[in-house]
Amino acid sequence: MAKRDHTRIDPRGRKVKILATIGPASRSPEMLRRLFKAGADAFRVNMSHGDHADHAQAITAIRALEKEFHRPIAILADLQGPKLRVGTFQGGKAIIKHSAHFTLDRDPAPGDDNRVCLPHPELFGIMERGQRLLINDGKIRLRVKEADENRIFCTAEVGGVISDRKGVNVPDAEVPIPALTEKDRRDLAFAVEHGADWIALSFVQRPDDMAEARKLVTAHGGKSVALCAKIEKPMAVNRLADIIDLSDGIMVARGDLGVELEPQEVPPLQKKIVNASRRAGKPVIVATQMLESMIESPIPTRAEVSDVANAVYDGADAVMLSAESAAGEWPEESVAMMHSIARQVESDEDYLKRVRFLETPPDATTSDALAHSCMTIADTVSISAITVFTDSGSTARRVARERPDTPVLVLTPSIRTARRVALLWGTHAVTTKDIGSFEEMIAKGKRMALRHGFGKAGSKQIVLAGVPFGTPGSTNLLHVVTLTGAELDKHEE
Ligand code: PGA
Ligand code: MN
Repeated sequence: MAKRDHTRIDPRGRKVKILATIGPASRSPEMLRRLFKAGADAFRVNMSHGDHADHAQAITAIRALEKEFHRPIAILADLQGPKLRVGTFQGGKAIIKHSAHFTLDRDPAPGDDNRVCLPHPELFGIMERGQRLLINDGKIRLRVKEADENRIFCTAEVGGVISDRKGVNVPDAEVPIPALTEKDRRDLAFAVEHGADWIALSFVQRPDDMAEARKLVTAHGGKSVALCAKIEKPMAVNRLADIIDLSDGIMVARGDLGVELEPQEVPPLQKKIVNASRRAGKPVIVATQMLESMIESPIPTRAEVSDVANAVYDGADAVMLSAESAAGEWPEESVAMMHSIARQVESDEDYLKRVRFLETPPDATTSDALAHSCMTIADTVSISAITVFTDSGSTARRVARERPDTPVLVLTPSIRTARRVALLWGTHAVTTKDIGSFEEMIAKGKRMALRHGFGKAGSKQIVLAGVPFGTPGSTNLLHVVTLTGAELDKHEE
C-alpha cells in the first residue's frame, strides 16, 4: 500500500484525537499514565458514574501527567443529563427472564429479579399500557402492562442481566424533564471549579439547552470552558444547525441515539452530524461502542476496527472509548488499538482525499481566506508546519477546518486554549509566553517548530497570527519563513 509520510512529523503520528473515558479500570494515576502514553489526548470524566472524590482524584492525576510530559491534556466532564436510569440491586445485578413480569417502582430499596426502583418521579403517571421501556442500551425490552402513580408493571419481551443504574429509554413517551437536572447543576459547578476544559451536555433537545448551560458555566466563572452538545435525541437531530451554532463541539452519541432511533438510522446520521460540525469548524467526536468487544477481549472484532477506521476517514476530530477504557479489562490495549487503526488509515495515500471529499468553503472573513491560503501555499511549496499564534483558539479551529496535510503547531499563552484544542483535528498545542512584536513572534515560531520537531534547517514554515495580538478572530497575518537551524540557541519559552 502506498503511504503518506506525515506520520513522521505529527508527534502522535496521527491527526485524529483519542478521547478515553475514565472509570474504575483507569482511574489510578498509573493507568491514566499508561493510557496517555498509549495515545489518549483527552479524558472524559463521566458524571453518570463515580462520585466527586473519584473525579477530583482523576483530574489531579491528569494535571500531574501534563506536568510530567509537558503536554496539554483536555478534560471533558460529561454531565449525565436527564438520562433515566434504574436504581441499584442487591449484589449489583439481577436477571430478568424472558416473558417474566418486572416492576419499576418508587421504593429506593435495592432491587431483585422482580423489581427495581426507578428514581424518576416524572415517569410515574405518564407511562401507558403498551409503551416500551428499553433498558441497558435497548438490550432488555419491557412492555408496560399497567401503570399508576407508584409502579410500572411490565412484561419482559426480551430479558437479560440488569445491573446497577443501567440506562432506561422511553421512545414512546414524552418525558417532561428539563435539560439540566439538579445533579447536572452540581456536577457542572464541580467541573468548572476543578478546571474541566470541556463540559458535555447529554440529551440535548433544544438550542436553548446549550444557551442555558452557557449561562450557568459563565455564572460559575467558567468563561473559557468549552461546551459540547451530545446528539442522542431525535429532536436534536432536527435542530442540528442551531445546536451546533450555540456549541463549541459536538458528540455523535451513538449509544442512546441508536436506542431512541433504529440502529440503522445511526450511520447516515453520523455522517450528517460529522459533516455539519466540520463545516462549522467545531470539533466533532464519534462515540460509543467503537471497540466494544475489547471490554472483555484484548482483540477487537473486524467490524469494530472498520468502524473506527471509517470515523477517521469521515474526518472526525476525535474518536472516543467508553466502557473499553472506563470499566473494561483492556483499557490500555483499547487506546493502543485505536491509535494503531488511526495511524494505519492516515497513512493510506487516499486518506486526505477521502477526508476532503466534504467541501468546507471558507466563510467571507479574512481569517478563513488566510486559513485557506495556507493550503494553497502548502500545496505549492513544501511546508513543514503551519504555526498558529492564538489566544482563543479560533485561528487554530479555522485552519484545522481546512484539514491540511501539514501539521498545525498551535502556540498560545493560554493553557486553557492549549487544553481545549487537544480535541481538535491535526493540531499540536504548546503554551508560550505572550509576545510583544512581530520580530519576536517570528523568532518564537521558528524556535518552537524546531524544538517540537516541526521542521529542521532549511524547512519552510507558515506563521499565522492576528495583529494586534490578543484580539480574537482578528487573524490578518500570514508569513512564510525558512528555518536556519540556529534558532534553537535561545532558551526562554
Ligand atoms: P453516554 O453517552 O455514554 O453518556 O450514554 C454516549 C452515548 O449515548 O452514545
Ligand atoms: Mn448517552
